[in-house]
Amino acid sequence: MKITSVEFEVSAPDLRACPAWALPEFALIGRSNGGKSSLINLLAARRDLAKVSDVPGKTKLINFFVMNGAWSLVDLPGYGYAEVSGSAKHHWQDLLGRYVQAREQLVALVLIMDARRPFTELDVEMLEWFAPTGKPIHCLLSKADKLNRSEQSDAMRLAKTILSSYVDEAGQPLPFSVQLFSALKRIGLEEADQTIRGLLGLDGNDIDEPEVATQE
Ligand code: GDP
Repeated sequence: MKITSVEFEVSAPDLRACPAWALPEFALIGRSNGGKSSLINLLAARRDLAKVSDVPGKTKLINFFVMNGAWSLVDLPGYGYAEVSGSAKHHWQDLLGRYVQAREQLVALVLIMDARRPFTELDVEMLEWFAPTGKPIHCLLSKADKLNRSEQSDAMRLAKTILSSYVDEAGQPLPFSVQLFSALKRIGLEEADQTIRGLLGLDGNDIDEPEVATQE
């Protein structure tokens, strides 16, 4: 899809501060340092867009961006930092858990995991929190450029095996999918685009060479 406009909407410290709109939301979540900001900047064709989530003390906020005036990209706070402990950790878990479980506008979640060490304890916790909603989770095995071909196919096979082990009460597989991704080498960009577009029910061209008219 062509991203023609990207607007930063708000950083929400809690669910009440999340926008009261009807836009479909697509949320990105993952371990800190997994490549989430790089993905956001790539999607938005802007090197600085995700910076807002890097501001110290603001990292535990949910950042909402409006894409093409039609849908919202939601940057959820990254996890896995050692300093996230005690009450800060509790706040983070509470915020994230509430958002993914209760947010009606949320259409799907993208879980970004480092292809070299996917499915950490917190990644699995996210999958399990989200699974009961029945909404899709698309997993990106990021930094895939760090793996050779055979390592890439091993990583995909393992991921598919893990994801297919999640079933609903009727024993049906959950709508979980996975792909290789590299923001650096632009691996899997088209597949990510098609998946996002499909899940949002939008039509359009590739995100590969977006025209950007930014509005601050
Ligand atoms: P975030 O903390 O999840 O937002 O991760 P960032 O997007 O800030 O990326 C963390 C580090 O990984 C940075 O040094 C990036 O340059 C690097 N990185 C991000 N994506 C890729 C990728 O596709 N390949 C490689 N090799 N490095 C990447």
